[in-house]
Amino acid sequence: MIQYENETIRVFQSALYMTTSAVIELEEAIIITDPNWLPEEVEEIKEYVNQIKKDKQLYIIYTHSDFDHIIGSGAFPESKVIASRNLSENKHKENAMKQVDTFDQKYYLQRNYKPTYPRVDYIVSEDGQELVLGTSTVTFYLAPGHTDDGLFTVIEPAGIFLSGDYLSDVEFPFIFDSYLEYVKTMEKAKDIFSNHNIFVHVPGHGHTTENIVEMQNRLHFSQEYLEQLPNAQENIEEILLKRYTYFEGMKHIHEDNKKLAMKEKI
Ligand SMILES: [Zn+2]
Repeated sequence: MIQYENETIRVFQSALYMTTSAVIELEEAIIITDPNWLPEEVEEIKEYVNQIKKDKQLYIIYTHSDFDHIIGSGAFPESKVIASRNLSENKHKENAMKQVDTFDQKYYLQRNYKPTYPRVDYIVSEDGQELVLGTSTVTFYLAPGHTDDGLFTVIEPAGIFLSGDYLSDVEFPFIFDSYLEYVKTMEKAKDIFSNHNIFVHVPGHGHTTENIVEMQNRLHFSQEYLEQLPNAQENIEEILLKRYTYFEGMKHIHEDNKKLAMKEKI
């Protein structure tokens, strides 16, 4: 399951949708993001965490409340949970857990923990909020647009940028919340790249990269896509088809994006 590794971070990749879970080993704490999807995958992440944990405090960051990203919640009862205020105050918690249950029912899956909606210990309510963990500083930014409860995290001095379901190399922007908010969130991402020293970018789906040009390319493509979306040019689809291996299965999301963008642009 190991997709990427350096001295501070190991990124696990699920067999499903190239969903990632990062385990970051700091001097005084361990941070995990979105442990997922399959029971044995969550178990593998847990075994690794147990190996390196020692007496360090464990934190889990949930990048947003889509059910695939909170499916591992309940597997790490000793951890402190970090997430946005909107994730914490989500009115559709039961619905998210129902989706987890439906998934497990559909594939006859058994877990050795009970999936539960995350109870947030550290709430992020504003951009630039900082959490100091020993010699590391963790800076958070609210990232609405995909969902209204998204979160960007930057960990320094390691230079790790955890972007949740934004800036993926395998998915174009999926706009489930708001087109205009998504546009603003991409501006925020641009500011993050100029105001922080980013060495590693971990998207919620797709490949981790150390390549600055690749990071910029992901951002530019998202911004260009969003800019073109309300005008609904036919050739966008051809471009998406060339760029994204799994476009056929995502095509309907592009159609929905177009409708939302046109509605909000007026
Ligand atoms: Zn996702």
